Amino acid sequence: MGTIERIKCLVVGSGPAGYTAAIYAARADLKPVMYMGHEPGGQLTTTTEVENYPGYPKGIQGPEMMEDFKAQAERFGTSIRYGHATKVDFTGPVHKVWIDETLELHADTVIIATGASAKWLGLASEQKFRQIGGVSACAVCDGFFYRGQDVVIVGAGDTAAEEATYLAKLCRKVYMVVRRGEMRASKAMQHRVETTPNIEVLWNSETKEVLGEDLKGVNGAIIKNIQTGEERQVAITGFFVAIGHQPNTQIFKDWLDMDEQGYINNIPGTSKTNINGVFAVGDCSDKVYRQAVTAAGSGCMGALDAERYMAANGIH
Ligand SMILES: Cc1cc2nc3c(=O)[nH]c(=O)nc-3n(C[C@H](O)[C@H](O)[C@H](O)COP(=O)(O)OP(=O)(O)OC[C@H]3O[C@@H](n4cnc5c(N)ncnc54)[C@H](O)[C@@H]3O)c2cc1C
Repeated sequence: MGTIERIKCLVVGSGPAGYTAAIYAARADLKPVMYMGHEPGGQLTTTTEVENYPGYPKGIQGPEMMEDFKAQAERFGTSIRYGHATKVDFTGPVHKVWIDETLELHADTVIIATGASAKWLGLASEQKFRQIGGVSACAVCDGFFYRGQDVVIVGAGDTAAEEATYLAKLCRKVYMVVRRGEMRASKAMQHRVETTPNIEVLWNSETKEVLGEDLKGVNGAIIKNIQTGEERQVAITGFFVAIGHQPNTQIFKDWLDMDEQGYINNIPGTSKTNINGVFAVGDCSDKVYRQAVTAAGSGCMGALDAERYMAANGIH
């Protein structure tokens, strides 16, 4: 049998939601233990400039911002550890969570902040320019960098349609690459796309290659019409992918209410889940806003709800 550790509050995940939950939980004397998971610092460690997080008037690099979050959580005594939650058992009032299949934690409260991962097309050139610059999975985050320029957005759902119209307000021209001859987006959203003059929908199309230069970033894309086989090169500087996100909630699926995509359902207006003492915050339970500031806000809710749950149940 592995080691068992008894704690008051476990925070699973180290993005903006997890760190904010930890700051509040630590200051409320819940002595939180955080496991950072495979991506310490979360999604923002994969980006460069973050310009829309309040408190950083000059903007800040994503990884640096997450170091600030971490330092603040540590300052109030959060025990921040490497490790990934691999299994849970939420049968009893004491919630069991296994870390890397060895350490067994028994926690009064669990704050799940495991985030979501953007889905990518899987092209080598897409991943290369994701590192160098010019490829993004978040129009609201990065659209501003492409003001007055030409961009591509790939996707056909409501989010893609919404992001295309968002980009159209900032950019000179938006090519929307849609795999089929119709969109999955609602009729209303599709209508908005089709009536926006600077969006050109490339129907029945897929991306063959993202083009660019190592030091300068993206300068084009090759789009193939899958019906005719015809290839077209578009000159662009930004390539946006909006084909969905995968919430990192697999290990909770036998216990927590989720929607069909795997986002954890909160009791509306709270961070509570269907299990008492288990809370879900940030992108793992939010498919609508998906921003650092909203994730941080819900992390605060998670810690306050955890504290109130313990008080209401006489847990010290
Ligand atoms: C490229 C990019 C650029 C972005 N730019 C901006 C921006 O400019 N402004 C903005 O507001 N938002 C931006 N976002 C969105 C923002 O990053 C997310 O909304 C935010 O990070 C969500 O925070 P979170 O704490 O919910 O989850 P995440 O940041 O996704 O963190 C999830 C954490 O959970 C951990 N984890 C997952 N599974 C487990 C497990 N089983 N056990 C333990 N830990 C686990 C991971 O290791 C990670 O630490 C961007 C996103 C991307 C991908």
